[in-house]
Amino acid sequence: MVEFPFEISPMFEGERVRKEGMFVELGGPKSLGLELVRAADMDAIEDDKVTIVGPDLKEMEEGKTYPWAMVFNIGGELVEPDLESVVERRVHDFINYCQGIMHLNQRYDVWMRVSKDTAAKMDSFEPFGKAVMMLFKTELPFIEKMQVTFYTDKAEVEKQLEAAKEIFKARDARTKDLRDEDVDVFYGCTLCQSFAPTNVCVVSPDRVSLCGAINWFDGRAAAKVDPEGPQFSIEKGELLDAKTGEYTGVNDIAKKLSAGEFDKIKLHSFFDSPHTSCGCFEVVGFYIPEVDGIGWVNREYQGMAPNGIGFSTMAGQTGGGKQIVGFLGIGVAYFYSPKFIQADGGWNRVVWLPAMLKEKIAETIPADLIDKIATENDATDIQSLKAFLQDKNHPIVATWAAAEEEEEEEEEEEAEAVAAAAAPMMMPAAGFQMPAMASMPMMSTGKAGGIKITFKKAKISIERMVISEKKE
Ligand code: SF4
Repeated sequence: MVEFPFEISPMFEGERVRKEGMFVELGGPKSLGLELVRAADMDAIEDDKVTIVGPDLKEMEEGKTYPWAMVFNIGGELVEPDLESVVERRVHDFINYCQGIMHLNQRYDVWMRVSKDTAAKMDSFEPFGKAVMMLFKTELPFIEKMQVTFYTDKAEVEKQLEAAKEIFKARDARTKDLRDEDVDVFYGCTLCQSFAPTNVCVVSPDRVSLCGAINWFDGRAAAKVDPEGPQFSIEKGELLDAKTGEYTGVNDIAKKLSAGEFDKIKLHSFFDSPHTSCGCFEVVGFYIPEVDGIGWVNREYQGMAPNGIGFSTMAGQTGGGKQIVGFLGIGVAYFYSPKFIQADGGWNRVVWLPAMLKEKIAETIPADLIDKIATENDATDIQSLKAFLQDKNHPIVATWAAAEEEEEEEEEEEAEAVAAAAAPMMMPAAGFQMPAMASMPMMSTGKAGGIKITFKKAKISIERMVISEKKE
């Protein structure tokens, strides 16, 4: 049994290394961070080998942040390139099993910290690399050989990052010509149920996982190689509604995996029974009622959205494995889906994106809309967003007039109903005896009595509400 200088256990998964207790920070918002898994020929892998390119742990200065890239090579009879993403998704779990080492995010925005206590127990990243590879080979036995290279040299990290971005792009493009209707089976993943117990991740050709790491091909490869593992197949069943992407098989699995919390998941809907959001989504969508549009903010964006909220606050409201109407977590590749929130207007409903995200996905934004979608450079609050959309004649603006007309019609109907209800009292028939005030019935505008209250453009926050029957 190999000895490691720190403890290894799933119980360290939720451990946070705070700034005060941190020896060094690797990657993260102030630097560059990458993780990548590549399938390779068995002969090309030196099993258990750890290579460090750049300063090792003992050469690092306490309290500093360093660029960081980790490239794992895996080999085995059953290992194929379609498994790379699925294996890569487990890097987060296995690193977090190591005491005093914190790992957040994935792919090209990895953020790690090594605690002072753990750094005091080792001079090098080598035992850490060996521990992570031991966990991989124990938990995923189809990996027969594995080696890792850690890069801390800035120029090398930049080089690895550039190359990796092309690899991620090619992986995401694999589902480009495959549609939900072309397959009978979707895939599910329960990995995030460890912290979001009711989360039900459904991966279809037209909908990548919200962490962005698992597409339909990855789900298929994972379910094939490890049928008892966290990724599994879902018979999609009968199509109930093509627009929203509602299938009987998906509804059945939603009910089962959420322990009855949800009975429906509509894959391409933003408002009605949307996909659950666990917390590791790459992007979060948020409804902006004042313009009836949807904005999206990515994890890397540090600023505020026009509703005055930043990514982390929105992520806190959205995550936990719930269906939160008005918020939706997605993977970046879902923007490329022809079914992208098609039940709620698709791109015509998108009104705001951070400039960095808009630039990143520019090729998938319809050409006639690209200049009509605001960024933080055009709108920082609701008023400026409204003005921008009007100025650019965004398609959502046309719906405002229709909605206003509808509102006016409703108001007129209500006024007529009030007048009709009040009319007999205002125009009593000849000989009618006005009843005494005390015995007058309460005026009603509803068919079955009671009153109707309409709130317009109102924000209501209720901490606790008790409704009880009044005993006479
Ligand atoms: S977001 Fe979904 S697909 Fe990604 S790891 Fe979590 S459960 Fe799995």
